[in-house]
Amino acid sequence: MVKVVKFGGSSLASAEQFKKVSNIIKADPARRFVVPSAPGKRSSDDTKVTDMLYECYTASAKGMDYKPILQKIKDRYNEIINTLGLSISLDKEFDIIEACFIGKAGRDYAASRGEYLNGMVLADYLGFEFIDAAEVIFFDDNGAFDADRTNEVLSERLATAKNAVIPGFYGSMPNDTIKTFSRGGSDVTGSIVAKAVKADLYENWTDVSGFLVADPRIVKNPKVIETITYKELRELSYMGATVLHEDAIFPVRKEGIPINIKNTNAPEDKGTMIVESTSKKPNYTITGIAGKRGFTAVSIEKDMMNSELGFGRKILEVFEKNNISFEHMPSGIDTMSVIVQQSEFEKKEQEVLAGIHRNTSPDSIDIESDIALIAVVGRGMKSTRGTAGRIFSALAHAHVNVKMIDQGSSELNIIIGVKDEDFEKAMVAIYDIFVTTCV
Ligand code: ASP
Repeated sequence: MVKVVKFGGSSLASAEQFKKVSNIIKADPARRFVVPSAPGKRSSDDTKVTDMLYECYTASAKGMDYKPILQKIKDRYNEIINTLGLSISLDKEFDIIEACFIGKAGRDYAASRGEYLNGMVLADYLGFEFIDAAEVIFFDDNGAFDADRTNEVLSERLATAKNAVIPGFYGSMPNDTIKTFSRGGSDVTGSIVAKAVKADLYENWTDVSGFLVADPRIVKNPKVIETITYKELRELSYMGATVLHEDAIFPVRKEGIPINIKNTNAPEDKGTMIVESTSKKPNYTITGIAGKRGFTAVSIEKDMMNSELGFGRKILEVFEKNNISFEHMPSGIDTMSVIVQQSEFEKKEQEVLAGIHRNTSPDSIDIESDIALIAVVGRGMKSTRGTAGRIFSALAHAHVNVKMIDQGSSELNIIIGVKDEDFEKAMVAIYDIFVTTCV
């Protein structure tokens, strides 16, 4: 059994957190490969080391005094090193980093040092081998992740390692400069390492006990999702639920490696298992609810639209020409609505309207902004009768007017459009009808 364990920034924000991480790793010999983030926030008003590094680099690039902020970064690591009683010194590393900042090594290089240094400290503390990600994670000339080369080199390198710490978030370009993934990219490194060692499990340790059924800022104390499929996760993430970097799914999904989201501060909690497929019934009919604000519905009406060949295409062509992608397209017999992102649409509004008039001569066009979309997602909906009915009666009871409905053909989700001001009320009503009343 081999497990790859990735620890997020808050899991490694202080010496106290390092101790928890070490206990977790030492509790299971299968946890052989460790991917750390840079030290994150110790409290809500703290600053992540990654952000401090960006700031420091910007200051040095602009010829401003970067030394105070560099000192703060040094202090963060030294506090961890000293409190843990380690003998490792990062002084030489910081000299190199400072010289590279002055030599304009780039923002990616700067940001990557957070993980690099944290990896060194963690490897020293655990007594594990340290493997610089620059030697095993590669990008191509265009800056795209080079999956084939990485997998070849990384799997060969790790085959000879009993235990290792591989810093997250970065790799190297063909010209040996450093490049990072997008923010939160240590999740991606963890997934790549899990694939390379053909891990049985990729554990992603963070500061929550898994994915929640709904956003805790809207629903009080929502339940944790025990098991979620990759497809369900994709639907929920697209609608704004974030715990895991989206690109972290691809490498492990292809290999059939499950991901377990776990809480460093409550290691006994089961967390959430993310799997390709499962026969496990979800605890409730729905797996999760997520939503986003800021959509516009453009509704086009024309008599006999239904029998006009190519009508839909002509409409969508206008959006395409104006570089606006559409989210949903519910339609009636003589009406068709196109739901788009408000921020994109606003810039091109008049061009789009003129284009629709020119292309299709409609009877009327109606625009409604400030629409929120809510995705109710669940593999359990397919085999349960009355799911939509329950959603709509809950919304009616909550006095929420439904503007749009769209059920994906896979029966994995139902998308509901409501007025922005009803967004939170609608989320709570849906949560309550499926979860609270089922407990
Ligand atoms: N430290 C990086 C960030 O803050 C990457 C990560 O934590 O995954 O985005």
